Amino acid sequence: MNIASINIPESATAAQYPPIPEPNMLTEFFWEGIANHQLLILRCGSCGTYIHYPRPICPTCLSMDDLAPAQVSGRGTIYSHTTTVQPFHPYYVDKVPYNLIVVALEEDENIRITSNLIDFPNDDIRIGMPVEVTFQEVAPGLTLPLFKLA
Ligand SMILES: [Zn+2]
Repeated sequence: MNIASINIPESATAAQYPPIPEPNMLTEFFWEGIANHQLLILRCGSCGTYIHYPRPICPTCLSMDDLAPAQVSGRGTIYSHTTTVQPFHPYYVDKVPYNLIVVALEEDENIRITSNLIDFPNDDIRIGMPVEVTFQEVAPGLTLPLFKLA
């Protein structure tokens, strides 16, 4: 499914693109936000709970009709990390070793986003480091939320 925020050329090959997000009715707002360089997290208007990944029902108060995307700061801390040495997809063959980080967001540390830390040595990554989101077009038409040290 292609939506306005993710338009990949027909000629794209697996080596040129990482696995491509497939937005659906629940997640389309998130990817449109990324395309506009905004980090949007679903939030319950009834009780204030941030909900990620997006779900149709608030897990705290069970509201179904008061959920809407809310822009967050993009700041957080590294909750966990690892370094990947084995490419599992053609896109990553020339990118290993690369890091994976799990970021706990400033607004709610229970909201966690898996991403990559850029411009920093993999071996020096530590849990608790402050980071902030940055948006990068990793391949034509595909922007991803990555993180850098704050
Ligand atoms: Zn709620």
